[in-house]
Amino acid sequence: MLGLRLAALSLALLASQGELPPDTASAYGTIRGDRILPTVRFLASPRLEGRESGTRGCEVAADFLSSAYQAAGLEPGSKEGYLQSFDLIRRTLAPQAELTVKRTVGGATSARALTVRTDWVPFSFSEVGTAEAPVVFAGYGIVAKEFGWDDYASLPPGGVRGKIVVILRHEPDENGTAGAKFFEGREMTLHASLRQKAREAASRGALGLVIVDDPANHEPVPNPSSSLSRWTILTEEERKLAKDDPKRPRGRATIQHDDEPLGILAALASQEFLRALDGSRDWKALQQEMDASRKPKAFAVPDMTVKLVHAFDVERTPTANVLAVLPGSDPVLSKEYVLVGGHYDHVGIDETTKEIHPGADDNASGTAAVLAVAQAFAALPMAPARSVLFASWSGEEMGLLGSERFVRKPPVPLDKIVAAINLDMVGRNKEGEISVVGRSETPDLVALFDRFASQVGFALNDDAGAGAGRSDNGSLWLGGVPTASLFSGTHEDYHEPEDTWDKVLPEKIAKAARLSFLVAYEVASGKSTPKRLDVPAGPWKALAPGKEQK
Ligand SMILES: [Zn+2]
Ligand SMILES: [Zn+2]
Repeated sequence: MLGLRLAALSLALLASQGELPPDTASAYGTIRGDRILPTVRFLASPRLEGRESGTRGCEVAADFLSSAYQAAGLEPGSKEGYLQSFDLIRRTLAPQAELTVKRTVGGATSARALTVRTDWVPFSFSEVGTAEAPVVFAGYGIVAKEFGWDDYASLPPGGVRGKIVVILRHEPDENGTAGAKFFEGREMTLHASLRQKAREAASRGALGLVIVDDPANHEPVPNPSSSLSRWTILTEEERKLAKDDPKRPRGRATIQHDDEPLGILAALASQEFLRALDGSRDWKALQQEMDASRKPKAFAVPDMTVKLVHAFDVERTPTANVLAVLPGSDPVLSKEYVLVGGHYDHVGIDETTKEIHPGADDNASGTAAVLAVAQAFAALPMAPARSVLFASWSGEEMGLLGSERFVRKPPVPLDKIVAAINLDMVGRNKEGEISVVGRSETPDLVALFDRFASQVGFALNDDAGAGAGRSDNGSLWLGGVPTASLFSGTHEDYHEPEDTWDKVLPEKIAKAARLSFLVAYEVASGKSTPKRLDVPAGPWKALAPGKEQK
C-alpha cells in the first residue's frame, strides 16, 4: 500500500503546480494522509474520553492543539493566547419555579398558579430571581424602524418600567391578511427572535417578560410537540435519566455559553396564560385586528399582577476555543482574515452504557485537517497578503457554542473576516467524493471549491441538508461571514462508539485539507474576495443559531 500512497502523493504535488506559485508547492506537499492519521488517532483515543466540552479529555485535546499550532510557528489567535476561554453554563430547573397570575378587585385577590412545563417554561437565557408587578400588553414586542412598526410607541414614556410585559410570538401580519407582504412574510426576521424581544423589553426597564404562543399561529392547547418542549429545562433527576427513557421529558439543550445577562426574567407561555390573564378578552381577535390594520396595540391590563420566580441550579464549566493566526504579509490586507476551522469537541461518554464515543470522523477528521492546513501555511516561504486564522471550536455538540462565542466576542472584527472554511466530518464514505455546504449562501466562495476540486481529486456534491445550524458554519453565517463547509456525509457510526480512527480514510482527509488550503490561499493572497452575506449589522447579538425560531 505504501507504493500506492506515494503515487497519489506525487500526483497531488504535480497537480498543484498549475495553480500555485512554485514556492508554495513544498508547503502544500506537507499535507499528507500519513501525517494526518496519527492526529486523528490521538484525538479519538480512549484516553481523550470522547472530548466532551468541559471534560478532561477535551482539555487535553485543547492543550495538544495549542501546542501544535505554536510548534508550527503560528501566533496566538486571541489576546488571551491560543485559548479563547468561556464557561459552559448548565441550568437545571429548581422546584421553586413559579408563574402566578393574580387579580385584585376591591381588595380581594384571587390567584392562579400555572403549571411549569404544561403552561409555561422559563427561558434558559432568563435572569434568575423573582419579579412581581402589574402587567402591560405590548403587542408583538417588536421595534422595527425599517417596517414602520413599534409596539411600545403608543405607551406613555416609561410605560413598561418596573412592569411585567406580555407579548405575542411571531411578527405582525406574517400571513399577509392585509395584502402585500409585511415584514418578510412567513420568513423569520431578526425581530421574531425571542432573545431580541427580551432585549427590547429589558432595555425599557421591564422586570419580567412573558412571551405567549400567538393565537393566530398556535393551537389554543399546547401539545407535547409544541414549542414549550423545545425550551424545557430538565430537573436534576430528569437529567440523570437515560436519553431514551420515556420518563425523561423532551427538551432542548440546557447548556449555553456565558453570554451577557439580559437583565430580565423571561418566560414562554401557552395561551392558557392569556386566558388566566383575561378570560373575557378574545386574544385571537386582538391579534387579527393588529394584523389587519397593521397597527400595534398596547395597553396596561387592569387589576392584574404577575409573579415570576425563575429558579435554576447553575453549574459552570470552563472550556475553550483554540485559535492561532498567521499574520499576513501585506501592510493593508493583513488586517483582513481568512478563517479555517472545525470543532474538536465530541459527545464524550454515554451516561448509561459508559461507552466512549471517540468521534474520529466527528470531528477528529476535520480538526486534523485544519491543523494540517495550518502547518502548510506556516511552512510557506512567505505569508500570503491576508492573515489566516485557524480555529478549533469547542461546544459544537452542545449547540455550536464555541463558534457562537467567537462570533459574539470576536478577537478580530467580524467584517474583516473575508471568508471562512468549516470542516466537520471529512473522513468517511467514498474517497473521491465530498459535499460542499453553502452554495446558495456564498456562491462565489463555493465556486472556488469547484475550481480546485479536480486538482485534489474530488468530485463535489452539494449538500443542502447540512445547512445552517448543523455545524459551526451556522454561527459564522449569522455573523455575515461568507462561509463554506466540507462534509463527507453521515454513516451508521455517526455519534456512536463505533466512530473509531481505523475507519477514517486518511487520504480523503488530506484531500479535504488540500482543497481547503488551495481555496484559503486563493483568498488570502488577495486574488479573490467573496461577497459578504446579506445580514444586517449586529444580528449575532440577537440570534443564537438553531435556537430561536418562530
Ligand atoms: Zn461534528
Ligand atoms: Zn456531532
